Amino acid sequence: MSSIVALETSDIRFPTSLSLDGSDAMNPDPDYSAAYVIVRSDAGDGISGHSFVFTIGRGNDVQVAAIDALAGHLVGRELEPLLADMGGTFREIVGDSQLRWLGPEKGVMHMAIGAVINALWDIKAKRAGLPLWQLLARMSPEEIVDLVDFRYLTNVLTREDALEILRAAVPGRAEREAALMESGYPGYTTSPGWLGYSDEKLERLAREAMAAGFTQIKLKVGADLDDDIRRFRRAREVCGPDFPIAIDANQRWEVSEAIEWVTALAEFHPAWVEEPTSPDDVLGHAEIARAVAPIRVATGEHAQNRMIFKQLLQANAISVMQIDAVRVAGVNENIANLLLAAKFTVPVCPHAGGVGLCEAVQHLSMFDFVAVSGSRDGRMIEYVDHLHEHFVVPTEIRNGSYAPPVAPGAGMEMKPASIAEFTWRGRHAAA
Ligand SMILES: [Mg+2]
Repeated sequence: MSSIVALETSDIRFPTSLSLDGSDAMNPDPDYSAAYVIVRSDAGDGISGHSFVFTIGRGNDVQVAAIDALAGHLVGRELEPLLADMGGTFREIVGDSQLRWLGPEKGVMHMAIGAVINALWDIKAKRAGLPLWQLLARMSPEEIVDLVDFRYLTNVLTREDALEILRAAVPGRAEREAALMESGYPGYTTSPGWLGYSDEKLERLAREAMAAGFTQIKLKVGADLDDDIRRFRRAREVCGPDFPIAIDANQRWEVSEAIEWVTALAEFHPAWVEEPTSPDDVLGHAEIARAVAPIRVATGEHAQNRMIFKQLLQANAISVMQIDAVRVAGVNENIANLLLAAKFTVPVCPHAGGVGLCEAVQHLSMFDFVAVSGSRDGRMIEYVDHLHEHFVVPTEIRNGSYAPPVAPGAGMEMKPASIAEFTWRGRHAAA
């Protein structure tokens, strides 16, 4: 037996606002940040659990404080029982009745729980000598459903439903794992489309994205309609009539405004419209989806828990579901989200980018392909080409696809030198 001896946190902020990387209609000057946590034990095996919550600058200290508030659940506890029953560990921490008041199951506290849950998964995967996706994909259907909290889902998805989905995917697991190792998981890129970029930069990056083998690009929209029409036209000219180009409004619009704006851009055939309005407005998304069909509505990077995803699916509000590795309470809740998507046969195209989100979320899509939905059709993981160099196991893109990570762990471990250099001291080192 070993015990958890420390939960170390760091407030890490990259000065991305200086280059307008990541700029969109709602977030004009993000500083990509990580409320970072390391779970240390006295096992003497050299293994520690690394994870983070992604934020975009101010407030990262609040997120760090929320993670610190969970120390009492972990420090001093024996590690092995926690790892052996990750479903129980999840329910225990989410169920803290006093901390739960801060949500329930949403926002800063919920994301903090996600960070410590993911850090424990990192330890579990490293101890197993497997990348997280493979550890999950090799569990039995019964073990997988034990990870999921079906509370508030059972009117739509029961444990039995989930078992049925997972058992149906068992026969092809080995072939799909081999296919993944062979050809990876499709990616698409948002790199050309940031609002702060010039038209010339957009065109150059769109050309590069196609040449690199990506299956889609995405443009940020929603600040100015004339600009959006001009930028979308230029992207279409570069990419041709058939190449998928999605648009992302980052919650900018009223429901009626979203319908008008998307209708005005319909001639350029958007592959989907992402986050047209408030992420909490399930019925608003449904109204937009009905009005702009056949253009598909996508959302989820700010969906705060599995109950929101359940409702989005129930209401036919989304045709593309975008999970995020660090918005909900970690791997466990995202498995619930993947099962919900499978139940509704809606493709999952995860949100990524930021800092470390590609590294983290690829494990969930690869697990989904091997053991849940059994499909890569119409599915792709967002990719943004920055800040990967700070990770111990950086994302590897081959011909526009994510190459499956083979290193043990959950993929969220940052290099010590990067943690030291970008730890926030009240100002940017580069400013
Ligand atoms: Mg987005």
